[in-house]
Amino acid sequence: MGAKREFKKCLVLDSSYMPRQIIESTRAYVIFSKGNAEIVADHPETFNLADPNRIIHRPSIIRVNKFINLDITKVPYSRDNVFKRDNYTCVYCGEDEPRAMTIDHVIPKSKGGEDSFENCVTACRPCNADKDDLTLEEWGREHPNPYRPHFLQMMKHIDYVPQDWLKYLIL
Ligand SMILES: [Zn+2]
Repeated sequence: MGAKREFKKCLVLDSSYMPRQIIESTRAYVIFSKGNAEIVADHPETFNLADPNRIIHRPSIIRVNKFINLDITKVPYSRDNVFKRDNYTCVYCGEDEPRAMTIDHVIPKSKGGEDSFENCVTACRPCNADKDDLTLEEWGREHPNPYRPHFLQMMKHIDYVPQDWLKYLIL
C-alpha cells in the first residue's frame, strides 16, 4: 500500500528514448490507443474497467513516435517550481526549513518585477521581510541569477520514481 501502489504516473520517452514528460497513466494509455506511442513498460496496477474480463495494466513508460519538440519540456512557472528549483532553500542565507519559505521577487513587483523564473527566488521570511521593496542594489546583496529550470531537474522532485524509469533518467 502507500504511495507506490497508488502511483499512476507514466514516463514519456520520445522516439530517441529521451525522457520528455511525466503524465497520468490514463492519458498515456489514450496516446497509445490512438497509435501514437508504444508501451515500453507497465505498472503492476491495472485500470478499473467495466468489463471484469479485460485486464489492462497502467502504462509505466511509453515511447511516442515523434521526436518531441523542445517547447514541451519547458517547465511552467509556479511558486512550487521555484521552490523545487531552489531546493526549498533561501537563496540569500541558506535557510532550508521548507515551511519558512516565501517567494521573493528579485525586482520587486512594485518596481515592475514579474512573476517569472527569471525574477523569482526562494527566500526565507526574515530575508524577504528584510529585503522588503528594495532592489538588490539598494539591499546590498548579490544577484542570485534565477533561471528557468530544465524539466529533468524537476523530475528529481517527484516523490516516487519506479525502478524501470531509472535507466532513462539522469538522476
Ligand atoms: Zn534567508
